[in-house]
Amino acid sequence: MTDILVVGDTTNGKLGSATAELIRAAGNLVGDVGVGLAGSRLQEAVREASSMGAQTIYTMESHKLDDPSVYTKVTAFSQLCQQLEPRVILVSKNSHGLDFGPRLAFSLGAGLAQDCIRIGEDDDTGRVVATRPVYGGSAMATVTFSGDGPQVVVLREKSYEPASQDSLESGNLVQVEVNLGSSGDQVKSVRQVGSVAKGVRLEDAEFVVAGGRGLGGAEPFATLEELANLLGGAVGASRAACDAGWVNHNYQVGLTGRTISPNVYLTVGISGASQHMAGCSGSRNIIAINKDREANIFKEARFGVVGDWNAILPSFLETVRELV
Ligand SMILES: Cc1cc2nc3c(=O)[nH]c(=O)nc-3n(C[C@H](O)[C@H](O)[C@H](O)COP(=O)(O)OP(=O)(O)OC[C@H]3O[C@@H](n4cnc5c(N)ncnc54)[C@H](O)[C@@H]3O)c2cc1C
Repeated sequence: MTDILVVGDTTNGKLGSATAELIRAAGNLVGDVGVGLAGSRLQEAVREASSMGAQTIYTMESHKLDDPSVYTKVTAFSQLCQQLEPRVILVSKNSHGLDFGPRLAFSLGAGLAQDCIRIGEDDDTGRVVATRPVYGGSAMATVTFSGDGPQVVVLREKSYEPASQDSLESGNLVQVEVNLGSSGDQVKSVRQVGSVAKGVRLEDAEFVVAGGRGLGGAEPFATLEELANLLGGAVGASRAACDAGWVNHNYQVGLTGRTISPNVYLTVGISGASQHMAGCSGSRNIIAINKDREANIFKEARFGVVGDWNAILPSFLETVRELV
């Protein structure tokens, strides 16, 4: 019996960190948690999901499911859900999840809550109550489901800490046969091209230093890169800096960029618009450098320096160089 089904994802045979976050989020709901995994070479991911406390791990093994196409995965998970009839299905809002969640909900005739950042349960109805940012992150909406059907919730990455692998319980493994038929045949994946990541991934970094329009150009990003390298972190940017072409859009933090939750988030020349904050509000400590003491970023920052970054950053960098 699985009440809450986590749609799992794997990378090179290992469980994706987004799945670990969903397993943690599932702990906020009442019921047994199952994790569905699709593809080949799933043994390591099964072990990881089990040690994170999932009661049951359902594997759907097929090379066809290694394909990045969303169609085959929807077919597989739709059949799994029809067998299990879970009350809640949790999907991560990564590049696949945004596409996958609505398709799965449609195929099951289920309700869907997209882009959520928190989930809980209504004590009276037992239905999921989810929180999602609206109006570009300026307000939070609380949504719930009507009817008795399955509830599909798509959760933003980094909304929850990943579950840790410390469960002594070992989950049950259930191998599920799915009939993929011709699903996926309409799309042919020709080639997968990965972006070359330098250093630590922005989403995984414990230290992020980000630059905004206040930097005035692309050049100062070299200083941010050096600082990030020294502290084993990553560089981010506001949309204004990306739109100006100073850095690639892969650097963008915010509502339409990446969601990060580092231990320390240092912003330089960023005003702290709500759309930017939507991507970094999970940061444990925000430190802001901005010459405008009224800038919104100071409302969110734990520490702030009011002043021109040109006068502050070089000596800060110098001190870090000496310390590391
Ligand atoms: C639908 C939608 C989605 C969006 N998504 C995103 C998103 O994902 N991410 C995002 O970042 N934005 C997003 N935006 C844009 C967002 O609204 C802001 O326009 C943007 O974040 C502003 O970037 P900024 O803080 O770099 O620039 P500004 O708001 O122009 O702020 C620049 C700051 O630099 C300071 N400054 C200037 N010179 C110096 C100096 N020498 N030293 C110190 N400080 C200095 C200024 O005081 C100012 O506070 C979105 C907007 C919309 C409408």
